[in-house]
Amino acid sequence: MAGLSTSNHHHTYQLHIRLSRTITIPVGALGQCRFPAGDYIYTGSARRNMEARLRRHRGRDKRPHWHIDHLLLHPAASVVEVTRSATPECELNQSVTGEIPAPGFGASDCRNGCGSHLKLLLPRQSKAKPHSGRPKRSGPRRGAQAEVVPQARHPTPGGI
Ligand SMILES: [Zn+2]
Repeated sequence: MAGLSTSNHHHTYQLHIRLSRTITIPVGALGQCRFPAGDYIYTGSARRNMEARLRRHRGRDKRPHWHIDHLLLHPAASVVEVTRSATPECELNQSVTGEIPAPGFGASDCRNGCGSHLKLLLPRQSKAKPHSGRPKRSGPRRGAQAEVVPQARHPTPGGI
C-alpha cells in the first residue's frame, strides 16, 4: 500500500571493515573481545529499511545496539565498502573464508551454525610475489677444476 518496491530482493548486506590496529573491546554480552588488525567482513540482513540500516552502520553517532556497533564505534575501525546481495545471510556468510575472532559475534539470531557473522580475512597469500625474470645461467661451469695433467713422458720412438 505504501508504495514499497517489491523489486528489491537484496536483504543481505556485507560490511567490509578495516581495522587499523589490534583492539580489545567489550562487545555486549560477549564480554571483552580481541580483534586483530586487518580486514573483516560482517554479514547482516535487513528485511526492511536496508538503506537506513547501512547509514546507521556508517554513522558514529549511535548507542551500541548490535555487536557490530561496538566494533564500528571504535576509531580504529572503518567501513571501507558495503555490498548488497540477494543471497541468504547465512549462506553468504559461510562463503566467506576467514577466521572468527569473536565467537557468537552478530550471530545471536543465527540458526545455521555460522558461529559468527564477523570474519577476519586471512592475509593474502604471497601470490603477488614479483616474478623474478632473471635468466637462468646456462652452460657448463668452468674454471674451478682445470685439471692439469702432467705430460706423460712418452718414450721417443725411433730408437732402433
Ligand atoms: Zn548465520
